[in-house]
Amino acid sequence: MKKDYEVAKDYAGYSFWLEHSGDDLTPRPPLDGSTEVDVAIVGAGFSGLWTAYKLLERDPSLDVLVVEKEIVGFGASGRNGGWCCGDFPLGPSIMVRRYGVEAARAVTLAMIDSVDDIERVCAAEGIDAHSARGGALAIARAGYDLPKIEAMWQEYVDIGLEERVGLLDAAQTSARMRVRDALGTFLIRDGAAVQPGRLVRGLARAVERRGGRIVEQTTVTDYAGGHPPRLFTDRGEVRARRAIVLAGEAYLARLPKLRRHVIPMTSHIVITEPLSPAIWDEIGWERREVLGGFGSTGGYINHTADGRIAFGAYRARYPFQSRITDDLDRMEDVFEHARIAARTWWPVLRTVAFTHAWGGVFGTPRDHMPTMGFNPRTGVALAYGYTGEGVATSNLSGRVLTDLITESDSLLTRLPMASHQPVPWEPEPLRAIGVNLMRQLRYKEIEEVERTGVYPRWTEQVAKVLER
Ligand SMILES: Cc1cc2nc3c(=O)[nH]c(=O)nc-3n(C[C@H](O)[C@H](O)[C@H](O)COP(=O)(O)OP(=O)(O)OC[C@H]3O[C@@H](n4cnc5c(N)ncnc54)[C@H](O)[C@@H]3O)c2cc1C
Repeated sequence: MKKDYEVAKDYAGYSFWLEHSGDDLTPRPPLDGSTEVDVAIVGAGFSGLWTAYKLLERDPSLDVLVVEKEIVGFGASGRNGGWCCGDFPLGPSIMVRRYGVEAARAVTLAMIDSVDDIERVCAAEGIDAHSARGGALAIARAGYDLPKIEAMWQEYVDIGLEERVGLLDAAQTSARMRVRDALGTFLIRDGAAVQPGRLVRGLARAVERRGGRIVEQTTVTDYAGGHPPRLFTDRGEVRARRAIVLAGEAYLARLPKLRRHVIPMTSHIVITEPLSPAIWDEIGWERREVLGGFGSTGGYINHTADGRIAFGAYRARYPFQSRITDDLDRMEDVFEHARIAARTWWPVLRTVAFTHAWGGVFGTPRDHMPTMGFNPRTGVALAYGYTGEGVATSNLSGRVLTDLITESDSLLTRLPMASHQPVPWEPEPLRAIGVNLMRQLRYKEIEEVERTGVYPRWTEQVAKVLER
């Protein structure tokens, strides 16, 4: 029997950010039978909502409907690390190899525009996403990682964007914050810390203020391109005069037609209680830059507006057959790993409680290249595949898809993501074997470098395989 939306799940339990979003998270009503609209969008995460917002900004007369299985922000958008950064999921050097210098530079500039655009929309729409534009720092805490941050810097130099990045030595790093063993930092200037739950929920309200509609507790079970393109849901059929947009990221793997386009990978975060002023004096970190690190204690780290530290672990796992269940959200061994890792960065955290822990899934395409495409013949648009870097990238998806759907020729529609053809993942069990093997090799590499102080010689070969 169908579950009543009024007795829906305890959505606040899915992340600290949703719990502290300021909303009561009561679901909006579901789809009320079959209907026809101009644009129908699957997924009320950042991708779906940015697409809706940008379309309505372009043409306020459009009838836009967003169809969400759970609630706004239920997916990765309401659970992520709050790293809103101008780096694209594919690094500049890989983009140069695949698409050339000009394309790599254009994508990076478009990403920087996205960080700006998110800030602009938040200001214009009164969305208080607790944003702090301090930049993003990748901190090397061992000598063998210094060449890594230099290479990251060089990638931007090679595409002529050296003014957007910087390299800090140990003293410059510790002038910003005291992190144990910090030897140097790669700085991306265009980065911000955000409270993603507040951002995604605020964005949904902005979409509605502009006339867009959002239905929740409505599952899209299939879709069909054609005239008109259609979404099939458990509550009726949605026909679209202009386009349907599939913006369900990792969850798209549940749709039979997209099963091999993307795989879900898990990621997990722990968060401390608010730290005392004395601890913040010791740590510094006043600009609330987002931080990342390398090796077994690496992570993605956010200094929240209410004075906590959120520490995301680099311990992604792939669920066999891409099966996404709530059980994936709770991996006690990964939570414990993250707490231990956080305490290596700041030993003072031994005296501090971790109050929340949660997880979610992000989508990984076979070639690590996001797709932001629209086929005018079928009326089907796709936006997915950010490999854990979708907070700013999803805004770019919204802007690219808006230009494609409204047939506006622009620099954005010439970016490689707009013409990218998804590469299918292998069928199971090959897929699980391959993904898990790569994961094990990565851990092996980390183990070896941390034991010997030197990156093993086979590392480059592995990187090349991973890049494919
Ligand atoms: C733990 C974690 C930490 C992360 N940290 C960062 C970070 O710090 N910085 C960063 O840039 N990125 C990060 N990411 C990735 C980033 O959060 C995502 O790339 C981004 O939020 C994707 O947005 P989206 O709208 O495409 O997908 P989602 O936010 O996953 O939204 C998809 C939505 O579609 C709905 N949906 C799916 N299928 C259907 C269907 N059939 N019918 C109806 N509705 C459907 C889902 O319920 C969901 O609400 C992280 C991800 C995770 C899981």
